[in-house]
Amino acid sequence: MSSPIRDRADACPGALQTHAAADGALARVRVPGGLLTAARLRVLAAAARDLGDGALELTSRGNVQLRGLGPGAEVALGDRLAAAGLLPSATHERVRNVLASTLSGRTAGGFLDVTPWVAALDAGLCADPALADLPGRYLATLDDGRGDVSGLGGDVGLVALDPGTVALTLAGADSGLRAAPGDAVDLALAATRAFLAERTAQGSSAWRLAELDDGPARVAARLTAEGMSRARVFRAVSISRAKVLSAGAVGQLDGRTALVVVVPLGRLTAGQAELLAATSTGPLQVTPWRAVAVPDLPDASAATALAAAGLVLEPDSPWLRVTACAGRPGCAKALADVRADAAHAVAGGTLPAGGARQHWAGCARRCGRPRGEVVDVVATPAGYAIG
Ligand code: SF4
Repeated sequence: MSSPIRDRADACPGALQTHAAADGALARVRVPGGLLTAARLRVLAAAARDLGDGALELTSRGNVQLRGLGPGAEVALGDRLAAAGLLPSATHERVRNVLASTLSGRTAGGFLDVTPWVAALDAGLCADPALADLPGRYLATLDDGRGDVSGLGGDVGLVALDPGTVALTLAGADSGLRAAPGDAVDLALAATRAFLAERTAQGSSAWRLAELDDGPARVAARLTAEGMSRARVFRAVSISRAKVLSAGAVGQLDGRTALVVVVPLGRLTAGQAELLAATSTGPLQVTPWRAVAVPDLPDASAATALAAAGLVLEPDSPWLRVTACAGRPGCAKALADVRADAAHAVAGGTLPAGGARQHWAGCARRCGRPRGEVVDVVATPAGYAIG
């Protein structure tokens, strides 16, 4: 497989370095691990209402976007984010892409709690000036062993194999390198630095580790040369989408309840965000599946109000199988208002392909297409092409 040639730096938007979309500026706020306090979610909701189009977009990396920002709104947004602690480093803000297992430490399925790794990895990334040069596409995945995020295309990943052993993945594949849980974040940071060093050595401007020549093996070799030990027995890291939490109530290990709430097409209105913040008693978590996990509830009774606000808690809802790009009016390339059309199809029970997992896109670029088996519903000048 040939790697794409990157003849320019990536242009991933950030909170400060916004993207000029057809409906105004678009800002992407990194939320490591998808973890948000209620207070921070309220700040984001207020910013969306005051400065943007009134909604937050949830991304497949558990980040949050504001769109429809007016001229100069970036400054006010940056001030609000910084005051709320959502912008700990102006130089590193675009590289804080960290996915973590959903409800780690709270629900069954994992070997350990990766939540402390999120803060440690984020702090380690921001503390190293050299890591500001990481591409905005860089992604780290922290998987507690349940296998929900290790298959999501991380450049660098940690996967717990048992309560005392953590595997390092590089471009999604097992590197053979192991660490104890207490050393795992240092290993991930070393791998991140080795990725940049290898990129420099190859004279490459690759955006992803997988785009380097023999990238995973060469990065692993650099780490081995630095004294990181390889396991004698390589063990494949198994990944199963079946372990992804569906919508609805989930029992926690401590007897309390978490609600996993799917946000249709990832568009969370300011009002819905404020309701989630008011409902929560613990840290909220934005998941890579455009959902928000609300933990530490006494029971599932809050589900009624959340569902009444348009959020989805039924595990068999068609909304769990439908994603869409921005489409019109947000994207100038779009040939259709794909979100409105997808919503109309869900409401009318007329989803194509028998309602199979599907991604609606306003043009052939198919931005935001999820990984795995997905039917494409692509706008063309002659209507939607299904395939
Ligand atoms: S898929 Fe096309 S229409 Fe949709 S956001 Fe990407 S470029 Fe725009």
